[in-house]
Amino acid sequence: MHELGVVIEVVKTVEKVAVENHLAKIEKLVLQIGELSSMIPKYIEACYPAAIENTILQNTELKIEVMPGNGMCKSCNKVFNIKENKGVCPHCDSKAWDLLSGKEFIIKEIVAY
Ligand SMILES: [Zn+2]
Repeated sequence: MHELGVVIEVVKTVEKVAVENHLAKIEKLVLQIGELSSMIPKYIEACYPAAIENTILQNTELKIEVMPGNGMCKSCNKVFNIKENKGVCPHCDSKAWDLLSGKEFIIKEIVAY
C-alpha cells in the first residue's frame, strides 16, 4: 500500500497552500482520482485520518471524486469505459484507443472556513 506516502505528500502540499493563502482552518479537501490511476480511493480514505493527525488538516472531511477511465477508439472513434470493457472497444472489438481520462490524481479543491 503506497497510498499513505502519497496522502502525506498531499497533506504537505495543502499545508503549504494554506500558509501561502493564510487559511487558518480547512473544512474539506476534495481529491480527484482516475479509476485507472494506481491510487485506490478506499485505501486513501483508510490512511487519511493517520496522515492528517496533528496537521492543519486535522478533523477535515475528505471527499474523493472518481474520474472514469475513458478511451476513444481509433477504429470507430467512439468513447468507451476502458475498465468496464477491459480495454476492448465494445462497438467494434478494437484494442487500439487513445486514453482520454482516468489517470488523474488531483487536489481539486481546498475548502476553508
Ligand atoms: Zn471501436
